[in-house]
Amino acid sequence: HAKVCHSGIGLYDAAMARNLHRKEQLASHLRRALSRQALMLHFQPQFDLTSGELVGAEVLCRWHDEELGWVSPAEFIPLAEERGLIHELSDWVLAEGCRQLQAWKAEGKTLPGSLSINISAQQFDTEDLVERLRDLCLPVQPQELTLELTESAFMDDPAMAIKLSQRLREAGFRVAIDDFGTGYSSLAYLRDLHVDTLKVDMSFVRSMLRDERDRTIVETIVAMARTLGLRTVAEGVETRDHEQALRAMGCGASQGFYYGRPCDAAAFSRQWLSG
Ligand code: C2E
Ligand code: CA
Ligand code: CA
Ligand code: CA
Repeated sequence: HAKVCHSGIGLYDAAMARNLHRKEQLASHLRRALSRQALMLHFQPQFDLTSGELVGAEVLCRWHDEELGWVSPAEFIPLAEERGLIHELSDWVLAEGCRQLQAWKAEGKTLPGSLSINISAQQFDTEDLVERLRDLCLPVQPQELTLELTESAFMDDPAMAIKLSQRLREAGFRVAIDDFGTGYSSLAYLRDLHVDTLKVDMSFVRSMLRDERDRTIVETIVAMARTLGLRTVAEGVETRDHEQALRAMGCGASQGFYYGRPCDAAAFSRQWLSG
C-alpha cells in the first residue's frame, strides 16, 4: 500500500466512479420505487423467553428492483438518509405496517404484543414528529407500536433524545433502544431516557458463546435493564444454545433466524398468527 503508482491511482478513480454510478442509479431507482409504492415489508417474530409465546414482530423494509435485483436495507436505508428520501420511506413503512396490523385484526388474527418499527435518526429533526407518527398509524393506536431508535441516534444529541423519548411515551408509543451496547450510553443517561426496551445488539449475541467478554456484556446489559425496570430483547438469536444462554441470563425476549427469518405478511400470518 505504500507505493502509489500511476496505474494504482487510475484503478482507484475507476472504482470510485463505479461506486458513484451505482449510488446514482440506486437513488434514482429508489425514488421511482417510492413513488410507485414498490417497496415491501417483511415481518420477523419475537418470543418471550420464559413462556415461549409470540410477543410481537419487527417490520423490516424490502426492495426488489427489476434491473438491480434485491437491494439490502443496509445499502438503501443509508442512501435514503443521504438523499433526503428517508422521510417518505419511513412514512410509508409506518402506514403500511399499521395497515397490515389492521388487516390481520379484520381476519381475526390479531398480533399479540406490539409491532416494532425502525425510526431513522434523521426523523429526530422533524418538527412535528410525534403528531405525524400518531396521524400515520391511525386507526392503530400508539400503544400497539414499539418505535426502535438506535443507541447511536440517541447519543447524537442526548438532551434532545431525552425530550423526544418522553414525548413519544406521553403519546402512548413504546420506545426501544436498538443495537444496544454499541453506542456508549451511560447508566445515568439511560435512567433519564424514557424507554421500555433494550435490544441487545446481535454482535454480542453472536459471539457470546465463544467470547467470555461478550458474554459478560450481555449479562451486564440484562442485569442493568432489570435494575432500571426495562425489557430486554436479544436479536440475532440463531441457535438453541444462544436461546438457552439468554434464558439463563434472564433476558426477556428473543428474535432471530432460530425462530424465523423475516417473511412477507402472508407467510407470517400462516406460520405465526392463529385465528
Ligand atoms: P436492525 O434494525 O438491527 O434489524 C435487524 C437485522 O438483523 C435485519 O436485517 C434482520 O433481517 C437481521 N436478522 C434478524 N435475525 C437475524 C439472525 O438471527 N442472524 C442474522 N445474521 N441477522 C438477523 P435487515 O432486514 O437486512 O435490515 C438491516 C438494517 O436496515 C436494520 O437493522 C435497520 O437498521 C435497517 N432497516 C430495515 N428496515 C428499515 C426501515 O423500515 N426503516 C429504517 N429506518 N431502517 C430499516
Ligand atoms: Ca431494529
Ligand atoms: Ca438491531
Ligand atoms: Ca443494526
